Amino acid sequence: MEEKINILIVEDEENIRNALRDFLEFQNFEVTIATDGQQAQDIVSKRQFNLILLDLMLPKVSGEELCTQWRQQGLVTPIIMLTAKGQEKDKISGLNIGADDYITKPFSLEELLARINAVLRRTDPARAVGQVFKFADLEVDIPELKVTRDSTETKISAREAQLIQYFAANPNRIIPRDELYQNVWNDTMTELGTRTIDMHIAKLRSRIEINSAQPQIIKTVRGAGYKYEC
Ligand code: CA
Repeated sequence: MEEKINILIVEDEENIRNALRDFLEFQNFEVTIATDGQQAQDIVSKRQFNLILLDLMLPKVSGEELCTQWRQQGLVTPIIMLTAKGQEKDKISGLNIGADDYITKPFSLEELLARINAVLRRTDPARAVGQVFKFADLEVDIPELKVTRDSTETKISAREAQLIQYFAANPNRIIPRDELYQNVWNDTMTELGTRTIDMHIAKLRSRIEINSAQPQIIKTVRGAGYKYEC
């Protein structure tokens, strides 16, 4: 039996929380509940989730603070922010602080489900499309360690494959070098780490970019990191 996708719901309003839980459990997700920001922090420090539904306005620690904090700690779990109507500004800042998507209350459960599935597909290419997936205009084959563009195949190293998977799982978001290092090299950032990453990105670009001097797939964001745009 396939393992269930587990979702953490962080929501202080009981009615919404219960409706979400019942609906998602019915959709065959495994659901964990946090009723305030503090509780969410405790739970996330002990367990991994496939997705977090995070209310913006929470007692004790706000959704925005939580999201910022988790991203700074290198947590890559996809986050969908739940915002109340009229919090347009908050929505935008929700994405800036590293949320993957947001949905405005009141929303229909069907709409939420569609967002959840879209985020899961985007952030977990392996689960969504197996070990072969599209990355920009390339087809990536992880088991064969190759990328294909217009029927031209290029071999990639295992590390380059991991890098591609990480970028594919985190599109349109600036990824700081220390986050890459932590997740792809499983190591804490050092000065040497910075050079290692930059060397590998250069090598990877030579394999996947049409013109690696003007990268279109993996862009450098000066002073911030790298970004995969799709
Ligand atoms: Ca709330």
